[in-house]
Amino acid sequence: MSQQGYVATPPYSQSQPGIGGFGPPNSSIHYGHYGDPNSSYSAPQPGVSKSTVPFGSPPPVGPPPPGAQQFSQTGFQNGSSTPGQQPHRFQSPPPPSNTGASYPPYSPQSQAAFPNTASASSPAQLADQLNSMQINSYGPGTAPSSCVSPGHPASFQGPRLPPPPTQQQMGLPPTPQLPPPPANSVNGLCAQPALPPMARQGGVPGPVPPNPNLQQLPGQPPGPGYHPQQANYGPQMAASQLSYPGAFPGGPAQLAGPPQKKLDPDSIPSPIQVIENDKAARGGQVYATNTRGQVPPLVTTNCVIQDQGHASPRYIRCTTYCFPVTSDMAKQARIPLAAVIQPFAAVPPNEAPLYLVNHGETGPIRCNRCKAYMCPFMQFIEGGRRYQCAFCNCINDVPPFFFQHLDHMGRRMDHYERPELSLGSYEYAATLDYCRDKKPPNPPAFIFMIDVSYRNIKSGLVKLICDELKTLLDKLPREEQEESSAIRVGFVTYNKVLHFFNVKSSLAQPQMMVVTDVAEVFVPLLDGFLVDFEESRLVVTNLLDQIPELFADTNESETIFAPVIQAGMEALKAAECAGKLFIFHSSLPTAEAPGKLKNRDDKKLLNTDKEKTLFQPQGNYEALAKDCVANGCCVNLFLFPNQYVDVASMGLVTMYTGGTLYKYNNFQLETDSPQFLSDLRKDIQKKMGFDATMRVRTSTGFRATDFFGAIYMNNTTDVEMAAVDCDKAVTVEFKHDDKLSEDTGALIQCAVLYTSMSGQRRIRIHNIGLNCSSQLADIYRTCETDALINFFAKSAFRAILNQPLKTVRDILMNQTAHMLACYKKSCASPAAVSQLILPDTMKVLPVYMNCLLKSCVLVSRPEIPTDERAFHRQVVMAMGVADTQLFFYPLLLPIHSLDLKSDAVPAAIRCSEERLSEGGAFLLANGLSMFLWLGTSVSPELIQGLFNVPSFAHISTEVTSLPDLDNPFSKKLKHILEQIQSQKPHTMKLMIVKQREQPEMLFRQFLVEDKSIYGEASYVDFLVCIHKEISQLLS
Ligand SMILES: [Zn+2]
Repeated sequence: MSQQGYVATPPYSQSQPGIGGFGPPNSSIHYGHYGDPNSSYSAPQPGVSKSTVPFGSPPPVGPPPPGAQQFSQTGFQNGSSTPGQQPHRFQSPPPPSNTGASYPPYSPQSQAAFPNTASASSPAQLADQLNSMQINSYGPGTAPSSCVSPGHPASFQGPRLPPPPTQQQMGLPPTPQLPPPPANSVNGLCAQPALPPMARQGGVPGPVPPNPNLQQLPGQPPGPGYHPQQANYGPQMAASQLSYPGAFPGGPAQLAGPPQKKLDPDSIPSPIQVIENDKAARGGQVYATNTRGQVPPLVTTNCVIQDQGHASPRYIRCTTYCFPVTSDMAKQARIPLAAVIQPFAAVPPNEAPLYLVNHGETGPIRCNRCKAYMCPFMQFIEGGRRYQCAFCNCINDVPPFFFQHLDHMGRRMDHYERPELSLGSYEYAATLDYCRDKKPPNPPAFIFMIDVSYRNIKSGLVKLICDELKTLLDKLPREEQEESSAIRVGFVTYNKVLHFFNVKSSLAQPQMMVVTDVAEVFVPLLDGFLVDFEESRLVVTNLLDQIPELFADTNESETIFAPVIQAGMEALKAAECAGKLFIFHSSLPTAEAPGKLKNRDDKKLLNTDKEKTLFQPQGNYEALAKDCVANGCCVNLFLFPNQYVDVASMGLVTMYTGGTLYKYNNFQLETDSPQFLSDLRKDIQKKMGFDATMRVRTSTGFRATDFFGAIYMNNTTDVEMAAVDCDKAVTVEFKHDDKLSEDTGALIQCAVLYTSMSGQRRIRIHNIGLNCSSQLADIYRTCETDALINFFAKSAFRAILNQPLKTVRDILMNQTAHMLACYKKSCASPAAVSQLILPDTMKVLPVYMNCLLKSCVLVSRPEIPTDERAFHRQVVMAMGVADTQLFFYPLLLPIHSLDLKSDAVPAAIRCSEERLSEGGAFLLANGLSMFLWLGTSVSPELIQGLFNVPSFAHISTEVTSLPDLDNPFSKKLKHILEQIQSQKPHTMKLMIVKQREQPEMLFRQFLVEDKSIYGEASYVDFLVCIHKEISQLLS
């Protein structure tokens, strides 16, 4: 069948031989894998046998059909006989019972191996590719100006009209003047002759060196910034460029062609158009999750989500909502089968929060064999006395207290009265069997640990933190129905030694205890260290007033780090509670102590097989992370570096413990305080779960084989998280181990056991059902590009720990080509032999993939600080789909066209210089950085309205916020800024950028459709390149 979404003619005129040569389904090439995860996940879950169906009962059917009975969220009530009839109340746990401990001892993490996948092209192959591309004949005038390939005049017979909703046609550039880069060198090679005026370097081929003046920029934004102390624009850079793998034969001189011809950018798939189309089609509507395998609105579309049996897309998004029935089909398509699970995602106030089901001391109802939790997928039989598990097919007895008659449809009479029968997501109250040592957990604690070394005192940072905490501690998170927070607080300061504080409410003054033995940290006090802020308010406030003065005269510039984490963890352990450390730290920990770090940043490692070591931790941080996870100790790290601090090592514990890493380069009190304080406020108030274990169960025929995220894997199935907050997402990959059934579909249940903010043990359940099909077109039709990019980003960012970056980039490129080639071969009309054809759901996969390939993590450039790359790597590993979407394709808003009469935000525009205008003002945000770009001839009224200054020249680019002005324009823009900020975990510092001034270079990094300043491919170049790859695969 023909399922063409996006059709374009090739830029090449060579004829395409038959396309029958596409690899057999069982091809042994594993492009999509950074190793063979199966090897480490071969052991089945204990007690679970997914491939056998011992009982003869028919398989369960899918979820209940969309309600014949009206489902009403607001009118939802549990049955009167149900113990959990008060949806949001928790009954105190029943007395202990006697089941086995649920905390097995920790064993070393099983490391998936990442053997180097064979690179797809040797230099010789590259040369062949280039020859076959006839790059030398692609000068101006030699190529036809039409989009139609001369060899295939009929190539537009394919679906060419009209764009909606599944087809789009475009013309690639007649012939790009630059030779299209070969696949494996698409990043890092293509010099950009058409660079902006500022960046143009007199026709010098090759990547344009950034302007050294940028070193003086105050407060660099995250992103490929320029580190003042590491910028090296000397000969070394040229050398690394020359040795860049996959360089064009003949050297970079070939790249200096005539300027690129203007291409009509509207002729290639636009991410903005895709976003806007979805908004127009589905925005503002109610999306009910009542059908298995339905594709949700895009993550960028606002709608109200109503849980009718499958988890909301806020909690789970999938790379495809229809799995191939066989592994052969999966191998053929090479579409990753994955779910991005954000178990604690925030839901807007107009959507129902999760119901709490409480079966008292009986605990949750679970399948005897696979331990799956009761859910809408379970099939009740024998008049309601038994049920068949939808995951392992085991027949279970219904516990007497849970018995209910079935209606004429075979559905329980109380179906709509019980969340666990009718909703995709809900919570169970856990019994003591689910608690550490069978004891109800204590409420969690927050420990604030402040680096009081010389620099932090002098910069005013310590005082800033202490002052802020005085008011912030009133806002500790609490459960909705509670009046005050149950979370206790404790305080530690440190430089080369640790200072613990006793802030017991009965004391008149806080007491300090110094621990100098940092090799073996012990906690010098228990009573009075962790306190209720309400009770100890006076003593705590007193302490926070005193800390800056206490260390005012310090000369100590050396710091420790690992012992700080150790101390925090030991304190939580001693108090028998889980919790979160807030560590505020500035420098490389060089003091003699465990975890001492040395500066090992080495640009010479870039583009070598050893580059990966830059991302691996030094010393014993991995063991420390493991200890922290075992003790439910989450580590939040606020870094204020002036130079290299080895983020790869220092941030590791944060990443493994579900914490958040914040980084403020060259922190200046005046300009950077708002960003830091906003981050701190948001973080402290975040709703979250502690001491969590996540388990993903699946119906027979497939299983979860790999997990990506800010998590720790203690064994192959349990995802351990010291804490998990609303922003953290775990990406789970699935593989077949048998044939799937189109009737029963592919069912997934994610269960997260955790301790709530009030110290209750709960299990949060998310269920989702996907379809299965033997038609490849069905798989492609239900793909979600945003989720695919999340998966690719996380898998690639993990793979760089073990593989050369070039290999990782090649794999991404190859897999993209394979996915699209398989579509073209299997689903598209044969008439389109030489066209670039993209499935509708993957229309913008190439542009997003190019953005991923261009991210500073995957680009080895000496100008990009190693810490910046490590930071981005760690932050992305924890992201959900909405965050990766914005991160890889930034939001760019034309704010000069704000409509003051409406509440609407102006439609975004594509991230390309062509979309900017001298008379305009544009806001750009990607979740970590934010810019306000002002064209040179932006109207004086707009300048006056926003900055309260008379002209462009008067605007200061030093400021990091806009003044509060009493005019509608300013108010509206500020409102938009707040909206954007509120939805993102990190607060973005606003940088004001004027057209044609130096900082514009930083801004240009984010115009991701253009060629980057380092020379990475533009979107057009990438399309050309991917088309070439596809053609080769099919020839
Ligand atoms: Zn089961």
